[in-house]
Amino acid sequence: MADSLTDGPWQRFQDELAKLPAGELVVRLGEAVDSRMDDLMAAVERAATGTGNPQDAVVPAQDAVGLLAQARGELRRLTTTDPLTGLANRTLLVERLQEVFDSVPAGGNQPSLMVLNFDTFKFINDALGHDAGDAALAAVAERLVRTVGKPHLVARLGGGDFAILVEGVPAEETLQLTAKIRAVLETDIVVADVPVRVEASIGVRFGEAGLAAAQAVHDADMAMQAARSKGGGKVEFFVPTMQEVARQRVQLISELREAITFGGLQLRYQPVVQLPTGRIIGAEALVRWDHPHRGPMRPDAFLTAAESGGLMADLGRWVLQEAISQLGSWLPGMENPEAFKLHVNLSPDELRQRDLVALVRQLLADENVPAGNLAMEITEHAIMTGNSDTTRTLADFGALGVGLEIDDFGTGYSSISYLRNLPVDTAKIDRSLIQDVAGDPGQRDFVAAILQLIRAAGLNVVAEGVETREQADQLSALGCPLAQGFYFSRPVTAEQLTVLLQANAPLPAGN
Ligand code: C2E
Ligand code: MG
Ligand code: MG
Repeated sequence: MADSLTDGPWQRFQDELAKLPAGELVVRLGEAVDSRMDDLMAAVERAATGTGNPQDAVVPAQDAVGLLAQARGELRRLTTTDPLTGLANRTLLVERLQEVFDSVPAGGNQPSLMVLNFDTFKFINDALGHDAGDAALAAVAERLVRTVGKPHLVARLGGGDFAILVEGVPAEETLQLTAKIRAVLETDIVVADVPVRVEASIGVRFGEAGLAAAQAVHDADMAMQAARSKGGGKVEFFVPTMQEVARQRVQLISELREAITFGGLQLRYQPVVQLPTGRIIGAEALVRWDHPHRGPMRPDAFLTAAESGGLMADLGRWVLQEAISQLGSWLPGMENPEAFKLHVNLSPDELRQRDLVALVRQLLADENVPAGNLAMEITEHAIMTGNSDTTRTLADFGALGVGLEIDDFGTGYSSISYLRNLPVDTAKIDRSLIQDVAGDPGQRDFVAAILQLIRAAGLNVVAEGVETREQADQLSALGCPLAQGFYFSRPVTAEQLTVLLQANAPLPAGN
């Protein structure tokens, strides 16, 4: 009988067991397998020591083959499934991708890979907790599976990243599928009783015969990043030039890091004036980068790179230091210093910094600047994508006496009732609303209504992007007290603003 233990299925079982890392079976297989294993081992033991029925070893030896098959199946399932959503994981996706790319029939439909990132996932996790984040991911997975259907494979890559292998359909159908996915994600999902947006950025890589699976994932991911950098909810298709764009972005980030550290940034200051007098009552600090090859760069060209490169906190700190120090040197020379406000923009990333308020308090103290001379400009988007620290930061700024303004008002949610619950004191009406205020009576009435609404909420108001005298006159007639824009002055250097402040003459200059 002992011979049967050294050959045949039992030997194969032992061989297979020996290949598994120590402890793997016990740790990774479920209890059912575990207890059957104990029975099996006990039977083997009895057979080997001659204490049991000699038949024992035969039965387990057969049993062992089934057990091994079950164990293999279970192991395979565990190593290819995402436990949270039950979807395929990256391992299975890559295996399937390679199989599919290796067997694209000549003239057949091109398989494609989509990578989806849920931009709001991090926000849900931060604001509502990890259980809510998990529930959101499970809900998203369920929607994707329902929308995509067979034979396509939906996988979770990790975090808020999903992927879909689309096979056997013409390219147009892949396009339709992206549209369907976006449509099905448009409905908010409810987690922890809160309805949340689940917008996804989608990158698509059409595959070809012989494409390496890892390359496809990399390319689709790059397309997704490109979609993401254009704002949430976009789709981008991989093109080889993306490689170059990504390389340039990486280079830009490293150059910007140097610029922040070694004095490559500058601030411009755009006057904020009183209407109708045109007297300067404040200024907005706007960052510029004097790039060694590209020349002066506007913030729109490098702030997204700063965000994606994790440089926003450092950049913001530099801006605050520079702006507050400049403010400290302007105030003593002014006739009416308490009326002057310097406006500084804060990005979503900066607002999430826990030590932001402490930093500002310190800088104000160092430069001997009263908190009331400083105002922070924040977009609604920054507040909506913030976390619990953001809300605390706003409250702390309010308590410190620093002004808080909603920038680009009229382009986001613009919910007055929401604003009333925040320690915000001013709304800055966006240029897009101002543009037609002089030409279009409908737009004038609209702006008039917005002004009324803002005032009724007890907020102060600034109109930004005023470019013509007609716009300035119209806003003045509507009772808008403050304005800013090219009509009065472009953003100027600190020295130029010093001259304007000393002249104390109305803007536009020469009027
Ligand atoms: P913003 O805060 O809404 O700033 C106003 C932008 O409109 C500025 O562009 C300004 O130059 C421009 N502008 C002012 N008046 C007019 C006008 O009459 N017509 C037109 N067409 N444009 C006008 P800029 O300096 O390129 O800044 C763009 C955005 O970059 C800013 O929008 C702000 O969101 C961000 N930004 C600028 N500086 C900083 C900074 O130091 N930190 C952060 N976090 N963001 C900044
Ligand atoms: Mg601003
Ligand atoms: Mg603005």
